[in-house]
Amino acid sequence: MFSGKNPTHPLLFFLTLSLLTLYALHHRHRHPISSPSSPAASLFLSSGSNSTVAAYLRQLTLHPHLAGTPLSLSTALYVLNHFRSLGLPAHTSNFSALLSYPSHSSLSAHFTNGSIFNFTLSEPARNDVVPPYHAYSPSGAAHAPAVFLNCGRERDYLALAASGVDVRGCVGLLRRGCGLSRHEAVANAAALGVAAVLMYTEGGFKEGVERGTVMEGLGDPLSPGGERLEEGDPRVVRRFPGVPSMPVSEAAAERILGSLEGARMPLEWRESFGTGSRRFWGVGPGPTMLNFTYQGEQKKETIHNVFAVIKGSEEADRYVLLGNHRDAWTYGAVDPNSGTAALLDIARRFSLLMRSGWSPRRTIILCSWDAEEFGMIGSTEWVEQNLLNLGSKAVAYFNVDCAVQGPGLFVSATPQLDDLFVEVTKQVKDPDSENEYVYERWVAANRGVNQIQRLSRVDSDFAPFLQHAGVASIDLYFGIDFPAYHTAFDSYDWMMNFGDPLFHRHVTVAGIWGLVALRLADDPILPFNYISYATELQKYKNVLSTMLGESISLDPITAAIQEFTTAAYETDEEIKKLRVDGSKDVSTLLRRGALNDRLMLAERGFLDPEGLPGRQWLKHLIYGPCGDTESKIEFFPGIADGISEHRKRGGEEAKIRHEIWRVSRAIQRAASALRDNRRYSQHGRVCSNPNQI
Ligand SMILES: [Zn+2]
Repeated sequence: MFSGKNPTHPLLFFLTLSLLTLYALHHRHRHPISSPSSPAASLFLSSGSNSTVAAYLRQLTLHPHLAGTPLSLSTALYVLNHFRSLGLPAHTSNFSALLSYPSHSSLSAHFTNGSIFNFTLSEPARNDVVPPYHAYSPSGAAHAPAVFLNCGRERDYLALAASGVDVRGCVGLLRRGCGLSRHEAVANAAALGVAAVLMYTEGGFKEGVERGTVMEGLGDPLSPGGERLEEGDPRVVRRFPGVPSMPVSEAAAERILGSLEGARMPLEWRESFGTGSRRFWGVGPGPTMLNFTYQGEQKKETIHNVFAVIKGSEEADRYVLLGNHRDAWTYGAVDPNSGTAALLDIARRFSLLMRSGWSPRRTIILCSWDAEEFGMIGSTEWVEQNLLNLGSKAVAYFNVDCAVQGPGLFVSATPQLDDLFVEVTKQVKDPDSENEYVYERWVAANRGVNQIQRLSRVDSDFAPFLQHAGVASIDLYFGIDFPAYHTAFDSYDWMMNFGDPLFHRHVTVAGIWGLVALRLADDPILPFNYISYATELQKYKNVLSTMLGESISLDPITAAIQEFTTAAYETDEEIKKLRVDGSKDVSTLLRRGALNDRLMLAERGFLDPEGLPGRQWLKHLIYGPCGDTESKIEFFPGIADGISEHRKRGGEEAKIRHEIWRVSRAIQRAASALRDNRRYSQHGRVCSNPNQI
């Protein structure tokens, strides 16, 4: 996973924990909010084991397992053998991908008093992990004055220019965050003539260094969208930033920052440092000179996706996919192997269910991805290779990357899965209070609402499934931040001491993940509710309409949402009728099959073959990342980009109108996929309805 991180203070965490324990003691005799839907679900729930999950995590994190390395292959084999030892059919799917590794780096500061400081770029007492680096950074060197660039947003450069600071030729020091990806931050700096970039992360361990990729986009750079390119092809090279960069520790960054003079730091930036701000006044350039060297190499290496397939007994050609990446920058106890440990435990519990006579109605596929950290490479290559199959057969994809970073549930989903997710959280015990269900604490933490985020981000393996293939998706984690993110401190010890000492949160994640999968795999009618989707779309339209005022008409979207809403309500009626109709005659089965297909395929309607403007690979027009990272809109990315450009340059009304038209067409496509285009006669014969094609 890659994103900006803030720490949870351990003291605060323990205080919260004690308060919650007290609270739990007052609420002893509580009944379940709702009970599991089937014997399989009950058995699944009762078979969780924290010591087993802990043992899996211990095994997975014994050594670092960076993608493309021999130790990474041994972790893949561990997962494969685990699946096989449980009697689950398992296989690997390998790809050759262009990965990137460091060979040499150095950094020294030359201060005005004549002293020279050589920074230690590795982390203390961790010799077996890869030195901190930015994957796909070009090699290079610079000897130049240091300048502070804040987060590297457009407005940060405007503030610097207003103070008369010329960043050209300097070594830029960047604070990671403000919603920019590493690639965007480095690319912005390069575009303005910065010679090399140092990047640090606030709030983690002072000596920890956050590794990460600076490649743009997803998947193997040599095979974008399935095409095969050569190394050195301009289409490959343009995905890497034009100047070298590397990450440094917060301690190193503060040493440089404390020595800068020149223009005064804007108040807004200083405030973001909190109480320590008084230490940092200048942004440079200089007088401190930095001597920067980074040498890296790009290598084609084999990556290994591992799968366990539990074949469906009635609808084998419908797939419910659970996925987590396995590769890690270092030991990966949180990112991603807390998720891997949970996935391995789900496999164990499913095999237990199978021995008790259960087999799923639909096929369940457990996916263990490789090379996510380099840019979702394993999952993206697999999705591209299986695009047609997934398009016609994938019911839903449920991703868990960092299963446990700390306390508290955080979830994102496509809206038709909201109800299912909420129902399941009412059946799984909360890990942090003895007598509550996940649902209760989740809602209490969000002022009485079940807060489900949407999936416009591109920070884990759900992105190719939803944004390229249009598969309904969920992404789940416990805890929002952890200080060891992408550092050598992301180890089993940290998990045992801080993240999840009793491994109860791991068991809860596995419980939710597995129960959702059981419902998706076993419910005769898919547990999808498109009324939630209609409500969300209406919300987005209202936000847009406030933003655009009278200037641009949203009538096409209004009409399309109306059509979609009608289809969603009609489908809901149909679901209710078919649910009570328990008969197994051919006509009922046919109608149920057709209904399930419509429920599955409606999400694909939001895809557009042209994709987002300038980013054709991203095909989903409702959810996707905005090109403008400072845009606050988290839906309709094409429209959002049009609005951003219009605000900056003006004269983009036609573009906005065009994007509005494309979004309304997408909503119409989804509505027509969802709508029942056939009518059934009393005798169950399927008749076509000429009015609705
Ligand atoms: Zn991750």
